[in-house]
Amino acid sequence: MEDFYTIQGEGFFAGHAAYFIRLGGCDVGCTWCDVKESWDASIHPQVSTTDIIDKVKTTVAKICVITGGEPLMHDLSVITNELKKANIRTHIETSGTSPLSGDLDWITFSPKRFKKPLDAFYHVAHELKIIVSHANDLRWAIEHGEKINPSCKLYLQPEWDKQKEMLPAIIDFVKANPEWQISLQTHKYIGVD
Ligand code: SF4
Repeated sequence: MEDFYTIQGEGFFAGHAAYFIRLGGCDVGCTWCDVKESWDASIHPQVSTTDIIDKVKTTVAKICVITGGEPLMHDLSVITNELKKANIRTHIETSGTSPLSGDLDWITFSPKRFKKPLDAFYHVAHELKIIVSHANDLRWAIEHGEKINPSCKLYLQPEWDKQKEMLPAIIDFVKANPEWQISLQTHKYIGVD
């Protein structure tokens, strides 16, 4: 769908330079999705893995984030193997609803209410990111936190359009549950993609 070298705005690697590859296709259907144009993979051109990797290599990127859409609707074995051969870290942002593939250094697991994730992701995730668009999502976050592996980082991220409304409750939650942290979409504040 698109690829670009930018700054990772969210989660554990916020502030790091990263090359983003956004793959088309998503069958999750979040009502608040800010990339609905990603849902139909067929409206985006097919691009060869070699061409994408060559573009990544024109930069000095040390991290590549594969996102979507739901990137695991595609088999990521070839692209992640090639990135690793080039000594580039492979990160993914996924709803965990499609089977895992690829050689991944960092898995950001962001389950959504709109489609149940696969249990395997609770074991392999490095970072759990719950998008909070309603007060009930905080209770929902606890349910996921109880199922996740013990070394996984826990993040609550306000849905962008509900940020002002939800932040006070998120702040109170994190103060009461300090194993959780707040993630903000800092790339939007600094005006990068
Ligand atoms: Fe949008 Fe991500 Fe939800 Fe898919 S999983 S609908 S891309 S927010």
